[in-house]
Order: sequence, then C-alpha cells, then structure tokens
Amino acid sequence: MQLPNIIVIGRGLKDKVVEVALTASGGEPVLIVTGKTAYNIYGRSISEAIGERTDVEVHLVEAEISQELETIHTILSKKRFGTVIGIGGGKVIDVSKASAHEASLRFVSVPTVASHDGIASPMVSAMDSSQPYSRMVNMPFAIVADIDVIEKAPHRYLASGCGDLVAKYTAIKDWKLSHKVTGEYFGDYAASLAYMGAEIIFRNAKKIGKRKQDSIRTVVEALISAGVAMGIAGSSRPCSGSEHLISHALGRLMEDPPLHGERCGVSTIFAAFVHKAAWKRVKSALSSIGTPSNLSELGVDEQTFVKAVLMAPDIRPDRYTILHKLRLTESDVRRLLREAELS
Ligand SMILES: [Zn+2]
Repeated sequence: MQLPNIIVIGRGLKDKVVEVALTASGGEPVLIVTGKTAYNIYGRSISEAIGERTDVEVHLVEAEISQELETIHTILSKKRFGTVIGIGGGKVIDVSKASAHEASLRFVSVPTVASHDGIASPMVSAMDSSQPYSRMVNMPFAIVADIDVIEKAPHRYLASGCGDLVAKYTAIKDWKLSHKVTGEYFGDYAASLAYMGAEIIFRNAKKIGKRKQDSIRTVVEALISAGVAMGIAGSSRPCSGSEHLISHALGRLMEDPPLHGERCGVSTIFAAFVHKAAWKRVKSALSSIGTPSNLSELGVDEQTFVKAVLMAPDIRPDRYTILHKLRLTESDVRRLLREAELS
C-alpha cells in the first residue's frame, strides 16, 4: 500500500503549504509547477515565503503536455531539488506528479480545483496516444487542499469532480464482476472506501448543487479518499471501471472533449443501466448537482458515444468489465441509450 504522509484540508492554508513544502524538501531547493491563474491567485505568495527559507524555482505550465514534461525534466536534471509542488488544476497536477515520479522526488499536491480524483491518487492521466488510459506513479507525499481557493473556481469543476465520484458506483460493480468471472483479487476495504465516495454524492447532491456550506469540503474529502483507495488497492481498480473506459474512449475520439468527470458522470448512467443497477439515482444526482446527465448536455452526439462504447473494451482488454462480458453491438448501444434516457 502507498499512502500520503500528510493530508491537510481546510481554509486559509497558505502558511501550511509553505510548511509542508519545507518538510517535503528537507531543506533542498523546491520546484513549484503552476499555471498562470493559480500562480497569481495563490502560488506567488507561497513561492515568496518559501524563498525566504530555501532556494525556490517557479515553472509556469503553458505548453502541450509532452513539451511540459520535457521542460520540467530538464529543469530537474540541471540542479538537485528536494521536492516538486504542483499548484493548480488537472493539467498542472498531472505533469508535476509525473515529473516528480520520474525524478524520484516527493510530490506535494496543491489543487486549486476539485475536478477529479487525480488530486490525491497514485495515477496520472493519458498523456499521449500511445497511452490511452491512466498509469500508476508514486502516491503524492502530501496533499494540501485549501477550500478558500477551491470554492472560488467555477461550479463546473466541482460538479465534474462529483461525476468522477459517482463513477465509483459502477467501478465497484465491474471489479466485483471481474472477481467472479476472472478470479481477479477484490479488495473489500478499498472498494468500500471508493464506494462511499459515490454514496456521499448521492446523499448530498442537492446541497452540492446549491453550494451549501461544507458540501464543497465533503466533495474534496471524497476525492482524496478515492485517491487513497487506489493507494490501498495498488491500482485504479476501485475507482475506474467500464464508465472510465467509455470516458477514455471519448477523450480519444473528440478533439475538444468535455471534462474528465463530466464524461465519467454520463458514462456512469449508461454503465449503471447495463449493470441493471440504480441508474436513475445516478442521473438525478448529476442533474441536482448541475453537471451533464445526458448526451446533449454533455455535448456529445449519439454516433460518437456509440463509437466510444464499442471501443471501450479494447482500451484495456486486461481490465474485465460488464462491457467485456456483453460485447454490445451498435444497435444494442443505441437501444440502451434510449432506454437509459441518455439520447
Ligand atoms: Zn476518474
């Protein structure tokens, strides 16, 4: 099992980020990887405060992912660093986590949006076409989630995070199915922890939609717990099943795809329907939260979604899910989309 050493969730955490960064670096220089907006609203004062205690360098992420990975690799190879801190959204967290892993450095995750469970997971998402799904890296050494910052981001991001959480509902069903059919190891504890992430979204959907006090913190806690569940399982299995395969396929088929969690949310309704599970519960939660709950809201046409479902089992032939079991045909998918009120 790989678990984070430090998890801090709260408000007004700038000083805490500085303290955790210095702990992680052990007095060695600190590399901050961040985006322009995140740097202006949050990162600048943190880098200044760290700079008073040790060497600090700031790299702004602006280019394509592969280019960014190369640039950060060069920065890390020129000088000895103690830690990499990612301050920002999905892309920043992904490239900084992957870079820290490659350089065998501790990674401190400081998310400024809560749009998916990568903020605290030992996974990085697909970065080029040779790698169609996420891959495993080291667990972040620390996660510092400042609710003051996360709640200022547009609602769409938090809502997307909820889509990534309801996905655990079908991910667990797929894992159990695989256990039964293929004899794959099923970790009840990791599964229960991930499942709770979906359950908490079902129960709090209305509050999250209204952005009620504490509901944002609840989502952040659930996303971090999902990351921890992957650390316990030693894979993304508890958090990613057939719905994620459809989401990955959509990511490959579309030039400008919707957010990861938005794709996962709609795909979860489909996967839940196929599993003969409580798909309406998924749908009504997503709709209360204010995130897409059908194809038109997601901005995906039926033809593309059908293609994605047909492609999904081949994205990961090694990860058995309901889609591998059923091997749906095009006309099956079109019928199911109608029955699940998705198109
Ligand atoms: Zn996900």
